[in-house]
Amino acid sequence: MSIALIAASQALVPMSVAAQSAFDARFVNYPVYAGDDLELKVDDSGTHFRLWSPEAQDAVVIIYDNGQGGAPVENIKMDRDATTGTWTASSPERLLGKFYTFKVLFDGKWLDETPGVWAKAVGVNGKRAAIIDLDATDPDGWSADRGPVVESFSDVIVYEMHHRDFSLHPTSGIANKGKFLALTEPFTVSPEGLSTGIDHLKELGVTHVHILPSYDYNSVDEANPQLNQYNWGYDPQNYNAPEGSYSTNPSDPATRVREMKQMVKALHDAGIGVVMDVVYNHTAENDGSNFELTAPGYYHRHWDDGRYSDASGCGNETASDRQQMRDYIVNSVKYWADEYHIDGFRFDLMAIHDIDTMNEVAAELKKINPSIFVYGEGWTAGDSPLPVERRALKENVSKMQNIAVFSDDIRDAIKGHYTNAEDRGFATGKPGSEETVKIGIVGATAHPQVDYKKGANSKFPYASSPEMIVNYISCHDDMCLTDKLRKSMPEESDSIRQAAAKLAQTIVFTSQGTPFMFAGEEIFRDKKGVHNSYKSPDSINAIDWTLKARNADLFNYYKGLIALRKAHPAFRMTDAKEIARNLVFDKIDSSKTPNLISYSLRNHANGDSWNEIKLVFNGSSEPQTVKIAKGDWKIVAIDGKISPDADLGATSGGSMTISPYSALILARE
Ligand code: CA
Repeated sequence: MSIALIAASQALVPMSVAAQSAFDARFVNYPVYAGDDLELKVDDSGTHFRLWSPEAQDAVVIIYDNGQGGAPVENIKMDRDATTGTWTASSPERLLGKFYTFKVLFDGKWLDETPGVWAKAVGVNGKRAAIIDLDATDPDGWSADRGPVVESFSDVIVYEMHHRDFSLHPTSGIANKGKFLALTEPFTVSPEGLSTGIDHLKELGVTHVHILPSYDYNSVDEANPQLNQYNWGYDPQNYNAPEGSYSTNPSDPATRVREMKQMVKALHDAGIGVVMDVVYNHTAENDGSNFELTAPGYYHRHWDDGRYSDASGCGNETASDRQQMRDYIVNSVKYWADEYHIDGFRFDLMAIHDIDTMNEVAAELKKINPSIFVYGEGWTAGDSPLPVERRALKENVSKMQNIAVFSDDIRDAIKGHYTNAEDRGFATGKPGSEETVKIGIVGATAHPQVDYKKGANSKFPYASSPEMIVNYISCHDDMCLTDKLRKSMPEESDSIRQAAAKLAQTIVFTSQGTPFMFAGEEIFRDKKGVHNSYKSPDSINAIDWTLKARNADLFNYYKGLIALRKAHPAFRMTDAKEIARNLVFDKIDSSKTPNLISYSLRNHANGDSWNEIKLVFNGSSEPQTVKIAKGDWKIVAIDGKISPDADLGATSGGSMTISPYSALILARE
């Protein structure tokens, strides 16, 4: 740990120092159960249930013919297994095709029925667990299915999308609109004949798709698809079953499982990895959550007076620091990696989880597939009983292994603050963010030319490796880039805003770390100015694919930018010392010459074919001039054009003028 890190940790004064509140202290000695047969196991001797509920006074399993409605066909009394805190019951029959719930007696009162916390298949709206043959849901060729091999997380290029955003609009040309299967349809086109869907992703060149929550969530009524309800899905209900509204038949428990696997397979066949957004940090409901209905109190954190603590801002937070909850998170991601071949996990509000849990998550996933990429939001949305030094915070990322965090530093510095729509940033003409942009460029690693004291968000180099950083300017949260540019540059035309968009993403995609983009920004999609569109209608959220023809120049720029990054390892260094040695900033006095950053990637960095790459970013509304060293330079990007093959002309250096809101990239052998 560096001195800077110690100082910064101490600066984060914990509001609460106890690991457990008085209310939660009783859970310390709870028995835990580590077996892999929790809740349901079907074998030759029948169907076996084992529910973890140490304080239950009684428990039953209720068997149904249907996923909803109808009377129970059987009530099976469960027996206590005190040493493990579990309750068990068996049926001599293999109950494939049936549904079940658990009910526990707690404090003298029978709680509501619950499908448990380990349902891997569920009926419509996820109220009953389903007993299905998982192997029968595997698509053809599944056993040979593999995601892309990732040698360094800096090689990953993430495209974040919501299923409905991506395919719902009539112009998508996709048949299975808003469904998992949308991503399995080849040869779909916009009205102008340009590729959409999975072909669009291949054309763009991203390496991974990050799908917004796709486990079973609470808010959309799966039984009434004609209502066209929209939700991001940050309201988890069943963590280990896919969301029904993304399947073509939510009433058939196997369909959603099979179709999600088909989606993964189609993306893998296209060479694209699949990252799942996971939200273990809170549950949609408090007392009505499956956690509370099986083991009341245990899985959530509380304050001393017994109130739910709420670091999620959604009414509660889970307790990863308790063994059975930690095991739950670890086993759940392992299940998705094994059963669905998922290639990465994006942890929502990751700092609600403790560092030890996140390290175990990454270590266990690495055993399954070393290419799995784990990253998360290194912050909380409120205070937590978990002490600050134990939280999986951005500032603590160097205490974690094989985990990355989002850089809010580069995000806010490039385009302006996320809470203030009118605020501008480096790429949109506001002076003063140069040093914070540089923090992003070096992937928040220690660099002799970056003064972290001038950083707007972070005051020390929190990443000990660029593989710990995800750089971005926008995501599903807050205004999308187009809306932000329209709001913060009201007097400008869309063509000037697109120039700023190109500059902004050029900074992100050439920075050290992993670049991340929000779906549709490559064609200038907007959300009609709605910043929190989590339940806005499709008319706000769906991407209009006619934009691809209208903004073809912007799309081609993104394509070129991605191709450039993939072709040149200098942008993808894997070691902080390598960055400090090979990335050299030119001296510019930002107080006299604001909105100008110039730097070089030298020494064939990271095995690059180019000896030196020069990048100059002009975020000002005026042209700016820089001195380029004499040499045989090829032009890679200039005046809003980019060529990964560096065929935009040549220069021998000297004085060069950079047009407003644009990037200049030069290369020499
Ligand atoms: Ca659901």
